[in-house]
Amino acid sequence: MLFQRLKHSTIRRVPVWLFAATLPMYASADYDNASSFLMVAQLAEDESVEDVVRSEPRRSPADEHQTAGDAQESSAPETGPSTPESEQVVVPITRKIAPNIDLKEVAPLPEPEPESGSEAAPDAELSEDEVLSAQDLSQAGAPSAEQQADAPAEPVLAKSLSLLGKEVLPGTSTRLAWSPQVQIAGLSQTTPVLAVNGVNAGPTLCLTGAVHGDELNGIEIVRRAMYDLDPEKLSGRVIGVPIVNMTGFQQGSRYLPDRRDLNRYFPGRQNGNLADRVAYSLFENVIRHCDMLVDIHTGSLKRTNLPQLRADMNNPEVAEFTRGFDRMAVVHSSGSPGMLRTAAVEAGIRAVTMEAGESLRIQEHQIEAGVNSLNSLMEKQGMISRMFVWGDPEPVYYNSTWVRAEHGGILFSEIDLGDTVSTGEVLGYVADPITNAQYPVRSSSDGRIIGMAVDQVVMAGFAAYHIGTEAEVPGE
Ligand SMILES: [Zn+2]
Repeated sequence: MLFQRLKHSTIRRVPVWLFAATLPMYASADYDNASSFLMVAQLAEDESVEDVVRSEPRRSPADEHQTAGDAQESSAPETGPSTPESEQVVVPITRKIAPNIDLKEVAPLPEPEPESGSEAAPDAELSEDEVLSAQDLSQAGAPSAEQQADAPAEPVLAKSLSLLGKEVLPGTSTRLAWSPQVQIAGLSQTTPVLAVNGVNAGPTLCLTGAVHGDELNGIEIVRRAMYDLDPEKLSGRVIGVPIVNMTGFQQGSRYLPDRRDLNRYFPGRQNGNLADRVAYSLFENVIRHCDMLVDIHTGSLKRTNLPQLRADMNNPEVAEFTRGFDRMAVVHSSGSPGMLRTAAVEAGIRAVTMEAGESLRIQEHQIEAGVNSLNSLMEKQGMISRMFVWGDPEPVYYNSTWVRAEHGGILFSEIDLGDTVSTGEVLGYVADPITNAQYPVRSSSDGRIIGMAVDQVVMAGFAAYHIGTEAEVPGE
């Protein structure tokens, strides 16, 4: 577990035999950068964001290729005349239509993702109402010119969602299977992807949990948010990957099997290392379908976080996006290269990291806060209508700084997560278990405790308290 504080670059440079001797030091000495933002980025681990040029969804090259391929293969003649737009409705006759699953019920096992080249395999049993003709699909996919002219105020009907080799029809929800295909083929497990395609057109929101396999609160946040959706009342799509890092999750580990941190490798490379490939597969097959992304994390080992967003507030699109989240502190963090949030924003997707609680735990209060906030976001984006009662009219924005222990010993906190503190206030003590010396740890600024270490053995330099200082939104 001590490896968890190591960055992959360090791992590459340091010979293996050194680890045994240096582990105790690395466990706490990972943060010698004095610059506060660098430290935040290192410690936050889950954020990052670079400038976004625009927030509109972009079609990925993969999508475009697929569209072209489908058109050639299926040559669906019925669709041409009914769609005046140059962008033809994709009627993927060769794709399987995803079974419509009531997400209030227990979802059945997903079918495995088709291997490339085997997509023409015969469909498994489709129920009658799922076998739609191309004509039906095209009508569902795009309103005709008359429909638009006659009823301009009517909601625009949704198109079907092509995802992971399946068609998710409007007004349906389903469970799909993603596989980065890095495992032994015969042992390969697929990773479940939940998809709800609303009857009405709207943006696509993606939710990812457990990119770090030991961060459990996000898994439950995704489940509650998604299984509460009714596709008949949804405008847009919600795609949820509750457990991105399945192998890490099964081992209770933050990392991939090669000890790499997946959240440093996005958007990934097709022919790179293991983490590159997993990242690439997720990014190309799922993330590029999103207009908005909330990547849900927790504090890293033995640190807990107030429910909060990490967002690049220097990016106007992202800053505006954060306004949709009810009762969430928003901490500015420009993030690190390779974070899912960073890569998504660079791909034109509005993205934030949501932090909720502590790793390896299920925390009801944190989960409720996360679900509430996602519901408020979907309402703000016009995706659902639930007469949502907002807690705070505006989110509170923070810059942040870490307070470190100056002595080794056992840390005992005097304050709680979310407390307001002032400069010089004692936040906790480090007690030397041998000499009985007691060293107070004092706040370096006025602010609020947005993250903190749980009581534990620490060494000098250990980042113990994350203090948020209220900030103006840049540009306001
Ligand atoms: Zn994380």
